[in-house]
Amino acid sequence: MINPFQLLGISDDVVNAIKDLGFENPTPIQEQSIPVLLEGTNDFVGLAQTGTGKTAAFGLPLLELIDFKMNKPQALILCPTRELCLQIANDLKNFSKNVANAHVVAVYGGANIMQQLREIRNGVQIVVATPGRMLDIIGRKAIDFTNVKYVVLDEADEMLNMGFQEDINEILSTTPDDKKTWLFSATMPAEVRRIAKTYMENPTELTMGTKNTGNVNIEHEYYVVRARDKYAALKRIVDFNPDIFGVVFCKTKLDTQDVAEHLIKDGYNADALHGDLSQQQRDKVMQRFRERSMQLLIATDVAARGIDVNNVTHVINYALPDEIESYTHRSGRTGRAGKTGISICIINSKEVGKIRQIERIIGKQFTKAELPTGFDVCEKQLFSLVHKVHNVEVNAEQIDQYIPRIMDEFADLTKEEVIKRFASLEFNRFLDYYKNAPDLNAQADDRGSDRGERGARGIRSSEGYTRLFINLGSVDEFTRGDMLSFICNNAKVSGKNVGKIDLKGVYSFFEVEDAIVDKVFDGFKAVDFNGRNVRIERSGDGGREGGERGERRGGGRSYGGGERRSGGGGRSFGGGDRRGGDRREGGNREGGGGFRDFSGRKREDRGGNAGGGSRREGGNREGGDRRKKW
Ligand code: AMP
Repeated sequence: MINPFQLLGISDDVVNAIKDLGFENPTPIQEQSIPVLLEGTNDFVGLAQTGTGKTAAFGLPLLELIDFKMNKPQALILCPTRELCLQIANDLKNFSKNVANAHVVAVYGGANIMQQLREIRNGVQIVVATPGRMLDIIGRKAIDFTNVKYVVLDEADEMLNMGFQEDINEILSTTPDDKKTWLFSATMPAEVRRIAKTYMENPTELTMGTKNTGNVNIEHEYYVVRARDKYAALKRIVDFNPDIFGVVFCKTKLDTQDVAEHLIKDGYNADALHGDLSQQQRDKVMQRFRERSMQLLIATDVAARGIDVNNVTHVINYALPDEIESYTHRSGRTGRAGKTGISICIINSKEVGKIRQIERIIGKQFTKAELPTGFDVCEKQLFSLVHKVHNVEVNAEQIDQYIPRIMDEFADLTKEEVIKRFASLEFNRFLDYYKNAPDLNAQADDRGSDRGERGARGIRSSEGYTRLFINLGSVDEFTRGDMLSFICNNAKVSGKNVGKIDLKGVYSFFEVEDAIVDKVFDGFKAVDFNGRNVRIERSGDGGREGGERGERRGGGRSYGGGERRSGGGGRSFGGGDRRGGDRREGGNREGGGGFRDFSGRKREDRGGNAGGGSRREGGNREGGDRRKKW
């Protein structure tokens, strides 16, 4: 079968090299641009995100068009950052590894210029450069561009954002007039249009997706929280995604440092990337991230430019960018190479208008998501670990020698007890922190309107009712009906006196009429369930729930001092067994309707399990200030 790249006109040597890189089929941008660029006769404008296979889209045609017998620069690729420069040069070296006498040099600041000059002197055909260092080398008269036939302006919008316009003008003035210019940009602001007009003649234009559209593989979500809860919200999102490998964007260097320090202190595997770090420090951080020995990279826009790491699962906008255009670049760090990704914005209620503006620019709707409850997080972590245990590869050769002794140690425990203990070992810490963790979602009723049903997450008691905590829940195989009977039987009260029951995993909340609270406490003075002492408490000490025992315990303010993640690996195991596991995967929410069928003790009455989907409310558009200039 003919290789699809061959069909596009790429030669065997290059096809074999990219096969080794795992390129089997061209990406859409490659499919469309390679035949056009291979003609070598046109200027070209490609509106495409990084991560779409853009480098090969221009790199492969270049390799076909260059005369490698001649040791003179014939192609110049300008890009905004050192990281991208190295990445492109590296990609081109890989693509051309079977091409005789192919020489690619990377020219960028912050590295030894002598070495770069030496490489140029030795003869190169392709120069990949950042504008500043390129100008420096041109100024030294150390390079001859008279044979340049192709200039690629990669991430043109970023180069302009970074103020390289003048440098680019100057560099281009040293190249022949009849060269062809290929411009790639993720967005097409007026400045980039102007460049295209100034330097190009009748360029062929290709747009991947609709204009300015972000990568189709990226989902966009936003969470509305109070400003003081931002950090706790970030942690909750991270905890709810045990396998997260993400970039968190902050506005300032100080913020990145701050957030990274707090995350590290709280046991997360994170580090900051910002402009105050030396090049060496930045390289080190990036290397750790690339190798995935770090889970969260906290970065500023500038520092993150050109970050080219595959498999980033989440981009988190801890602060929205000042320039709406930057959002496309940020979110483009995920959803690369055909993978899917999620771009998340943590905002306050005043910033919803900005989300609408971004929606218009990227041509995609955001989903308004709700932060998971502490219960959701614990459950997610628990089952993530359970699944890992299930799927772990057992090194029988090594472990078998210990099995008899291990079996001996556990001889007096049942299988269920062993599982519970392993699970509890890690999970308890998590559970401890998240037990009674507050609802972090800023509610519409923060601004005076009613959210409707409070049953699922409402944390205040209904009028005339007191909300109580009980240390039993769905992992004890309680349905709400069972719980109601259990309460009524022990407290010797009627079902009519009991209000909403909010069944959680290992604990629950229930409301009782204010008048019978003492009776309920009396009734539960000495109750056992399966050998466990049953405990009830007023929820949140006198009616207020959450905050004091949740993120804010330990005196932390917005940074939630005292929150501990489940150790370095962040893995937790569960105080539960598999009971209820299936039905709780993905964020079970007990229905808000409140249990009223007091006679019903049917096991199947599990109430309104809305599943994970209920957190997505589908970005309803707001009018008003969304057209405001941002
Ligand atoms: P780029 O947009 O050039 O930064 O490419 C993003 C990632 O996709 C890089 O890791 C490339 O190696 C990879 N890639 C590019 N083209 C292909 C392809 N046709 N098949 C598989 N992977 C690709």
